[in-house]
Amino acid sequence: MKLISILGSTGSIGTQTLDIVRENPDRFQVVGLAAGNNITLLAEQIREFKPEIVAIQNPDKLLELKSLIADYPQQPILLAGKEAICEVASYGNAQSVVTGIVGCAGLLPTITAIKAGKDIALANKETLIAGAPVVLPLVKEYGVKLLPADSEHSAIFQCLQGVPEKGLRKIILTASGGSFRDLPVEKLASVTVKDALKHPNWSMGQKITIDSATLMNKGLEVIEAHYLFGLDYDDIEIVIHPQSIIHSMIELQDTSVLAQLGWADMRLPLLYALSYPDRIPTNWETLDLVKVGSLTFREPDHNKYPCMQLAYEAGRAGGCLPAVLNAANEQVVALFLQEKIGFLDIPRIIESVCDRFSSQNTSNPSLDDILHADQWARQQVLQQIPVLA
Ligand code: NDP
Repeated sequence: MKLISILGSTGSIGTQTLDIVRENPDRFQVVGLAAGNNITLLAEQIREFKPEIVAIQNPDKLLELKSLIADYPQQPILLAGKEAICEVASYGNAQSVVTGIVGCAGLLPTITAIKAGKDIALANKETLIAGAPVVLPLVKEYGVKLLPADSEHSAIFQCLQGVPEKGLRKIILTASGGSFRDLPVEKLASVTVKDALKHPNWSMGQKITIDSATLMNKGLEVIEAHYLFGLDYDDIEIVIHPQSIIHSMIELQDTSVLAQLGWADMRLPLLYALSYPDRIPTNWETLDLVKVGSLTFREPDHNKYPCMQLAYEAGRAGGCLPAVLNAANEQVVALFLQEKIGFLDIPRIIESVCDRFSSQNTSNPSLDDILHADQWARQQVLQQIPVLA
């Protein structure tokens, strides 16, 4: 029996992790749950999964949550606020913490979990992108496992099993191409939020769906891959693969290429991050290559999608620049979702914020430096839009 806590339990990653627990009651047990605002779903999860501790980020919702479960006999410890999310992350005898919070809000809870000796099933890529200079040394110091739950990084990690040290030469990250894959570049200026939220292959939270439409998601994944697997940026490539069947590939020193394949279903990488190194049997639909028909690939269009290059540049610069890129992106995506800026403003604003930060970058940032850079970047974005500042 593996004891787990889930941060972001009401989101896409969180609910799919709970699907796995529901299907495997003899293998996984929930210790803690944490969410942002959705108390209705959180109350249902408390009744079904019987956690010992639960936190809601928004303190205004705590009383309502309490009343929703007032008649429930197995009352968990109920907390609210940012620190409460960290309490759940470090609580009790949970062995693994699934990080399904969206954005850099996941950074402090992840650090707290690591310091409490928990293994991390990492979905919340923003945490590593912004916080790697602090997170990676802590992973080493506390001897915990940082297991990728992002589908591409899980694919790479799966392919790497059995590959000797120094055997890896290149990482090939596959990208679906997002909502506007087949739209001519001239039409991007007039796309709407509704259009951008229609992902062709994956059903995910809003922020990552917009990141997929701008291909910033792939850029962030390049940085994530650099930090997880240690390759130089020159050795991490992106290829557009519209079917999303190959979840990523690795090239070895002898030119052999290994790939991991499967339907576009996040439960598989989540299950592997929780069961590693074991393989747990499931009754999920098996891959049928005849049904898939063809697997195709093409080069990414960097003119159409400048966010990828912005991410490569921030990654190569290192220090706090990935945190600045990430925070600027979080802020512009939120503004785009509120229909306050257009789709093409996204890369334009991020680029200008990163440019302004470059001269202040430091090579070995502390946690305070990273948190400061994150706040600075968000403020810079708002200052570029005078009505919001
Ligand atoms: P969702 O928007 O679906 O869910 C986000 C979750 O985080 C919700 O439970 C939300 O709570 C909670 N949350 C948001 N802000 C806070 C906060 N400040 N404190 C505590 N909880 C908070 O996102 P996804 O599940 O799609 O994505 C989660 C992470 O996983 C992201 O980093 C994403 O990049 C990554 N990821 C997601 C994939 C997917 O398929 N969805 C694939 C690969 C990576 P509430 O809803 O109650 O407000």
